[in-house]
Amino acid sequence: MASDDVEVVIVGAGAAGIAAARRLHDSGVGCLLVEARPRLGGRALTVIDASGFALDLGCGWLHSADRNPWRDIAKRQGASIDESLPSWMRPSLEFGFSRAEQHEFGEAMESFFARLEHVAQNTSDVPSSVALEPGCRWNGLINAVSTYISGAEWDQISAKDFDHYQDSGINWRVVEGLGTVIRAHGAGLPVRLGCRVTGIDHRGKRLRIETAEGAIAADQVIIAIPASLLAKEQFAFTPALPRKIAAAQGLPLGLDDKLFMALDGAEEFDSDVRLFGHTDRAATGVYQFRPLGRPQIEAYFGGKLAAELEAGGDGAFFDFAVSELTGLLGSDFSRRVKPIQIHRWGVDPFSLGSYSYALPGFADCRRALAAPVEERLFFAGEACSVNDFSTAHGAWQTGVTAADQVLAARKNAARVPSVSV
Ligand SMILES: Cc1cc2nc3c(=O)[nH]c(=O)nc-3n(C[C@H](O)[C@H](O)[C@H](O)COP(=O)(O)OP(=O)(O)OC[C@H]3O[C@@H](n4cnc5c(N)ncnc54)[C@H](O)[C@@H]3O)c2cc1C
Repeated sequence: MASDDVEVVIVGAGAAGIAAARRLHDSGVGCLLVEARPRLGGRALTVIDASGFALDLGCGWLHSADRNPWRDIAKRQGASIDESLPSWMRPSLEFGFSRAEQHEFGEAMESFFARLEHVAQNTSDVPSSVALEPGCRWNGLINAVSTYISGAEWDQISAKDFDHYQDSGINWRVVEGLGTVIRAHGAGLPVRLGCRVTGIDHRGKRLRIETAEGAIAADQVIIAIPASLLAKEQFAFTPALPRKIAAAQGLPLGLDDKLFMALDGAEEFDSDVRLFGHTDRAATGVYQFRPLGRPQIEAYFGGKLAAELEAGGDGAFFDFAVSELTGLLGSDFSRRVKPIQIHRWGVDPFSLGSYSYALPGFADCRRALAAPVEERLFFAGEACSVNDFSTAHGAWQTGVTAADQVLAARKNAARVPSVSV
């Protein structure tokens, strides 16, 4: 017998799970958010450094900020939104990358995206790398950009799925941290932290949610854990749901990690300008100088490079960053930087990666992953979003959609007349 009994269990308290629980709780449904970590937020994680700056180790940008629900939530919480242009929309620093080369690269990138759109909309699903122009000198850097956008190189990415992503082109930040906002949105919700769900038994009239601390009985469940954990079958469904697992396997989590470094003499640089470590390869970091005007560098590593660095431990990121930065700015530069913080999302057991992409031929998996089962098992999380995947606002939307599906299912169940004997 289950030791606890609620109407709806939400598994996973990231952006999606919090959004779902908030909607259900505010609608008067008895729900419980069950989270494996000792904190809310999942891949939304803000830490405060020794200087009091809020550092987003996971999501930081309010992408499509003009329609991003977290923007209004942040404003309601009294947080400050920074609307200054992101570094990728400004000229880069010119060390090893002249203005003329930047222009040439910008044009190559634009033509690549135009070809990718054409390929995605006019052929069967193919790897996005098909759109690379053979022999183009910028292919390495164009691939590096893929590792920052999707966490993997273009040959891994479904052209159709990438084409489905919708971006308004407006990108803002929250000074207090997007992770802070997402966590605060969960304040006051019924939640059980540090409690891993191991599986769901859906044979009986009521669901049995198996957790490390005993079973919970529920009418419905929203599963809002990363697709990577479903794909690796770290979560048992009884009876099994092979089509759901196959959908998750079509949506691996790419890898991206951020390293924050303190920078001495930061005033020498403009705020929010970027520098690529190298411009002739995919395996390079991109360094954002003075993010939000702070005396720091925010370094970003993606794809195979990030996986290799993760295998070397936290220190490998800083060593790699210093080698690239001194290569461009001179050996003395190593004395001006100190590591502050890094989070390795690939070895984090509750994410196993950073954000989802679809493998070539698997663009339909997002809908399959999101589809409810038996009107009792509902699915949410960024990987379920067809147009806003890989983002915190996509996660929010899937959470709200799943909660609305639960509300509709509960209404339908209440309408079914009881049979009198
Ligand atoms: C380095 C990095 C940079 C990013 N940058 C941006 C950005 O700038 N803008 C943007 O919009 N997005 C960005 N993202 C992506 C964004 O963070 C995610 O898309 C979003 O936070 C995912 O939310 P989610 O709720 O789907 O999943 P998660 O946040 O992963 O939440 C799932 C939750 O489930 C929990 N869980 C897992 N297994 C179990 C279990 N068995 N039992 C119970 N709980 C479990 C996890 O601990 C986690 O809390 C970034 C991510 C990373 C890693």
